[in-house]
Parts: sequence; C-alpha cells; structure tokens
Amino acid sequence: MKKFEKSFTQQESIPQAGIEAAVEVMRSGRLHRYNTLPDEKSETDLLELEFADYMGLSYCLACASGGYALHIAMRAAGVEAGDKVLCNAFTLAPVPGAIHNSGAVPVLVDVAEDYCIDLDDLERKAADSGARYFMLSHMRGHLADMDRIMQICERYDLFLIEDCAHTMGASWNGKMSGTFGDIACFSTQTYKHVNSGEGGFLTTRHPEIMARAIIHSGSYMLFERHFAAPPKELFEQIRYETPNYSGRMDNLRAAILRPQIADLDNQCQRWNARYRILETQFNDSEVIHIPARSEKEQFVASSIQFSVPGFSRKQILQLVANCAERGVILKWFGDEEPRDYTSRYDSWRYIEEIPQLPQTKQILSTLLDMRIPLTFSEEDCQLLGEIICEEAVKISDR
Ligand SMILES: *Cc1c(COP(=O)(O)O)cnc(C)c1O
Repeated sequence: MKKFEKSFTQQESIPQAGIEAAVEVMRSGRLHRYNTLPDEKSETDLLELEFADYMGLSYCLACASGGYALHIAMRAAGVEAGDKVLCNAFTLAPVPGAIHNSGAVPVLVDVAEDYCIDLDDLERKAADSGARYFMLSHMRGHLADMDRIMQICERYDLFLIEDCAHTMGASWNGKMSGTFGDIACFSTQTYKHVNSGEGGFLTTRHPEIMARAIIHSGSYMLFERHFAAPPKELFEQIRYETPNYSGRMDNLRAAILRPQIADLDNQCQRWNARYRILETQFNDSEVIHIPARSEKEQFVASSIQFSVPGFSRKQILQLVANCAERGVILKWFGDEEPRDYTSRYDSWRYIEEIPQLPQTKQILSTLLDMRIPLTFSEEDCQLLGEIICEEAVKISDR
C-alpha cells in the first residue's frame, strides 16, 4: 500500500531576498518599526506601502497577528460592549475570540452546503438580531456570493469586516477579497499565504478608521511616521481618544514578508494547480463530494475541503485514522471536541447563549480538511488524492 511521507506542516523556506533583508535588519539593530534614521522608511513602512499597493488601497497597517487585526478592527469601528456582531459559525477560533475581546457578542450564522456562510440565515439574523456589524470569514478560502453579501449589508446597514486570513490574493468577479468591506484583516502567520511566523494586516478605505487603528496598534504619538496612512491633521482628536493596545509589527518580520508579497500571485497559482489535481480526483469519486465553486470566485486554495456524505462519526474517525496511517493528515471540523486548529462553534463556551445550529452541525459532521503546503509537488497531490479516495471507498458501505 502506497504511503505519503512528507510533512503537512512544512512550509517553503523564506525567499533568499527576505533572509538577506532580515539579516540586514539584525545587523542594523533597528528592529522596532519607529527606530529609523532621518528620512528612512523602515521595512515595516515599506511593507505597508507595498501591501496597500497590491490591494489597490491607500491605507494599510501591519500588526502583530491576524486575530489582533480583527480585534482592533472592531475597536476602530466603534464596537462597544454588548454590541451584536454577525459572524460565521464555521470559522476559526480567533474570530469569535476577537469579537469577545472587544466586549461584543457574536451572532453565529449557519454554514451552507458550499461551505460559505448561509446567506438566507444571514439575512434572517441581520433582520432579527438588529446587529450593526458583520465579521465575515472567507473561511478556508471559500468566497460567498459577494454581490448578495453586499446587498444584505446595504439593506441592513451592516458595517462589514472581512476576515481574509485565507483569501489573501483571491478575488470575487475580478474584485479583490478585502476590498468589499469597510475593513479587511489578513494574517501572515506561518500557515496562511505569506509566512512571518506571526503577523497581520488591517486595510480600510476609511481614513478615520485607519487613524484609530494606527493609534490602537501602539504608535504612541509617532503616527506621523506612517506612510500608508491618512494625513496627520486627522489624528488631532483621535490621538487623545484612542487607547494604545500595543501590537505592532517589527522590521524583522516585515523584511521577511516583502519579497513574499511581491511573489504572492505566483504562489497562488501554484496552490491552485495542486488543488485542481485533488479536486478532479474527488469529483471522480463516488464517495467523496466536493461542491462546485462559482466561476466568479478566484480563490487561493492553500487547503482543500470535501465531504463524505452519509458517513457516521465512527466512519469519519476511521477515515481520518486510516489516512493518518498512510501519512495523510486530515482534519475534521465536525468533532464535538476541539482539536488542533479545528473547533466546532458549540465548544466556544464563553459565548453567553450558544445557539442550536442543526444545519451547521449536519454539514460539519462530514466535512474534512487538508492543508496543501507548497512543499508538496503536483505528483504528491496525485498520490494524496488516490490515498484519500481509496480509503474513503473502503470505509463506505459500498
Ligand atoms: C488564522 C486565522 C485567523 C487569525 O490569524 P492569526 O494571525 O493566527 O491570529 C483569523 N481567521 C481565520 C479564518 C484564520 O484562519
């Protein structure tokens, strides 16, 4: 029986240009973003300008993590304790965590059969809850129908924060993910689309929000030294009214990231070539189901999701175990018990009233996930697909 030998947590090395720039930062000793020579732009400044340019936006703030960006996004948007925030029930734990951190209350919205947020449930809950904020996770890179999302946001006057942790480099109908909402947050953590260990970005088209986010991030009164930022006059009042929630990015991580942003589109294509190989095999399988994706969705598949309809809990666990035996690491998002990077919404017990979401539970009960690190070749993906399909057929009742 064929086995897969590579590690699912092994990412590619940092590009040589990033390593050299990082060494240069260390030689200089000027790691703090505001530790600049007169007229010098720090690596963090340059990174912000380059990412803003990549996104086609004027404002960008680099910060300590994606989850941190989500937190200060809420704060900069004016969320107050007790405010309701619509968000996906199917997402990663930092999302409800960021909402909790701002004192707000998540209103969990069902997942749909296509693994995106359920737009009917969203519409219902937008109407019933009276929430003014919506934190939309493009979870595992799946972009919901953004045209309809924007209609719902308009109809209910929702302030939209996009969680683009898995859609850096992706678009909907030619418009970049992260440019639909009022604010977008990105992660540069090792398992996302660029890798600085930890890190994140906040982008917005609203100057006041960017001014507040900059002060929140721990700029002290050095906000004038931001370049992908609104003019200093805008900070006149904001600087007194905005607490410092210290969470800056440093020049070392910025140096590592800059060449990765420059190469991002190329990397996205490499991910998708791997995804298509797996997708084709899953489409050919009688046991595995993979939802068709909209032609409008230009996704970046740094991971793949699929379902094994009709599988019981026991069968799912057997499939995960059999695949692991052959070196293939699958994660199950439907497990009652939070494990690894997965946790089902009802395990977030700090949420005061956890709703019953039978549809979400049903869909997650057979939803599996596999990372696709770029250290895997296209041949590797062929083998991975074969192993998963073989094991799934074995366990199915066929
Ligand atoms: C990773 C991730 C985050 C948070 O990113 P960190 O940089 O790890 O804090 C937020 N949302 C989703 C969907 C993620 O996958």
